Amino acid sequence: MRQSSRPCGRLAPSPTGYLHLGNAWAFLLAWLAVRSQDGQIVMRLEDIDPQRSRPEYAAHLLEDLRWLGLDWDYGPDVGGPSGPYTQSDRSKIYDKALKQLAEANVTYPCFCTRKELRQLAAAPHVDDAGAPYPGTCSNLNEKEVQARIANGRRASIRLRCPQQPISFDDMLLGPQTFSLSDCGGDFALCRSDGVVAYQLAVAVDDALMGVNQVVRGRDILPSTPRQIALLHLLGYGAPSYAHVPLLLDEEGARLAKRHNSLSLRYLREQGVTPHRIVGLLGMLAGLNVSARAVSPAELLPAFDWNNLPRQDVCIENSQLRNLMQ
Ligand code: GLU
Repeated sequence: MRQSSRPCGRLAPSPTGYLHLGNAWAFLLAWLAVRSQDGQIVMRLEDIDPQRSRPEYAAHLLEDLRWLGLDWDYGPDVGGPSGPYTQSDRSKIYDKALKQLAEANVTYPCFCTRKELRQLAAAPHVDDAGAPYPGTCSNLNEKEVQARIANGRRASIRLRCPQQPISFDDMLLGPQTFSLSDCGGDFALCRSDGVVAYQLAVAVDDALMGVNQVVRGRDILPSTPRQIALLHLLGYGAPSYAHVPLLLDEEGARLAKRHNSLSLRYLREQGVTPHRIVGLLGMLAGLNVSARAVSPAELLPAFDWNNLPRQDVCIENSQLRNLMQ
């Protein structure tokens, strides 16, 4: 692990579709936060879920982010000391972390099927955490575990969540405190089909890649206490975090990969220049006085956490039309 007080951030896209303006917004802010402090950036491809990830999207997203004017010091296309930088190539590293947690006796096998979990969970959903896990398998004895395995049931692995609340100081949102039981309770580290869960992969990668500054969308905020808990259990310190507001369309809906017309690829095909996109995003972030076309580097002097919006930001249709002109 690289130890350094120099900021080290990361861009961690999932290759599940074309990047849209909302992704560009979060990545631009993450890039500015690090580069404005002369820090380094890791590019990490989060393709851990084989059902959702596609290699062709991985190639496109690296190209699209470079086209936008962002760069990185380490990554799948440039190498670096803490590689590989593609999560699907790191399964041995995650297995080692899983083993370490099992030896510390903080995990347990869970045989609940998705269907059973849906039926059991009467409580409302908690953000992206899904329904809180009711702890059905948390106290199975060895005989009960073996009986289920003998019946052909396959287990996922869950973390027995620490009881004490997790606190951290978000660089944008200020002090945050979460109880893990309010964030979905004991969460999965590995699915029953052997696919490692996002929470474990991200915590391990941030630690081993020397990431000490995480800037990402506020939709991921409920994951942060879970990742901090994992980092502590694995013996690592936690990075500092900033959860930036989301970019919404004029109707107030989150931009998603289904908004094809807002993908960087489509805008590029329409002849929109990267500097116009950065200019608009910079204005929405309060870093550019108008939507004047600028490079990411030109926004660096204005970058200041105090100037950034705390509330989600709507992109108006007229602003999108201007982008195309
Ligand atoms: N790969 C995740 C995504 O694209 C981001 C994970 C993170 O920033 O921790 O939504």
